[in-house]
Amino acid sequence: MTNKENDYPILIVGPCAAENEEQVYNTASQLSTFLNKETFSTLFFRAGAWKPRSEPKSFEGVGEIALGWLQNVKNKFNLKICTEVALAEHVIACQKFDFDAYWIGARTTVNPFLVEEIAQTIEDKNKIILIKNPISPDLKLWIGAIERFQKAGFTNIIAVHRGFASQSECVYRNAPYWEIPVALRLNFPNLPIICDASHLAGVKNLIENVAQTALNYGFNGLMLEVHENPELALSDAQQQITPQEFKFLLNNLNFKIQNNSEAENKLLVYRNKISAIDAQIANLLAQRMNAVDEITEIKKNNNIPLLQPDQWSKVVEIYNAEKLPDEQFTQFLNRFLTLLHNSSLERQQNKINIHE
Ligand code: PEP
Ligand code: MN
Repeated sequence: MTNKENDYPILIVGPCAAENEEQVYNTASQLSTFLNKETFSTLFFRAGAWKPRSEPKSFEGVGEIALGWLQNVKNKFNLKICTEVALAEHVIACQKFDFDAYWIGARTTVNPFLVEEIAQTIEDKNKIILIKNPISPDLKLWIGAIERFQKAGFTNIIAVHRGFASQSECVYRNAPYWEIPVALRLNFPNLPIICDASHLAGVKNLIENVAQTALNYGFNGLMLEVHENPELALSDAQQQITPQEFKFLLNNLNFKIQNNSEAENKLLVYRNKISAIDAQIANLLAQRMNAVDEITEIKKNNNIPLLQPDQWSKVVEIYNAEKLPDEQFTQFLNRFLTLLHNSSLERQQNKINIHE
């Protein structure tokens, strides 16, 4: 399979977890009423039987029994099916059924021993293998997992970008670091890459934005979590959407696969970085404003004068001590900090006047 073979996108859709037979059946049944198979080069129904959860008290999937429910979906609705395999024993259980693809989860991609064991255990090397990026932003680990499957004889591999764990503020559940899948594409120009916009976004209302961004980068398709009743979902309730919401999303997205140049993708990477940084700046400024409000309360209650020149010169010192890139930037920073400081004073003044 190559990303040049056809212009049609890949779509993997279904609930986070198979919870019970009705939920799996109803979700697939509703999806099958409007999913147009001709529009996609690959179309799979997904559901996790074993769920890799952070805490043992969370719902960890129903296990092997779900595999039969997925097989029924395949037989009834003529949909191809896939599930996550994280251990050799999962593969052995799945091989009693007719799965079309398996996905390797983010917590498995990080472990070369497991990747190797799973690759060796899957008997049919023609199966489609979806390899999620590792949890950590580590391109080499992702490449390593892909290479291990290639070495074991698999040729139908699809990379899945689901975002990365990150310490810094991010509006999404997982940080996108778009430069990583863009770099993966440079390493494997013919490997299809899709985006799991549900796990990346983490909340319903950001899924469309993530999905369209991925398609604009030239991704070959999407993985999306759809549940017949997301509010009652036993895992990832916040990011699952109903089949109707999914239908609406499909209509809104521009699925045309972009054939971007390297320069175009790099530009997109930097534009997205700037947007993410702007969102962080806005968030930090709001936090700063809250701290200023706390100070106002303390000053008001203790009759402390508003302006404390010492404090301001300390701030300026901290910034001046930093190595600033050039004179133009230094001037900008001074103007910005002065504006920030004056706005805070004004805010304090207004608050005190209102309360007086
Ligand atoms: C999933 O797709 O259900 C899943 C657990 O994803 P990830 O491995 O990306 O967290
Ligand atoms: Mn999930």
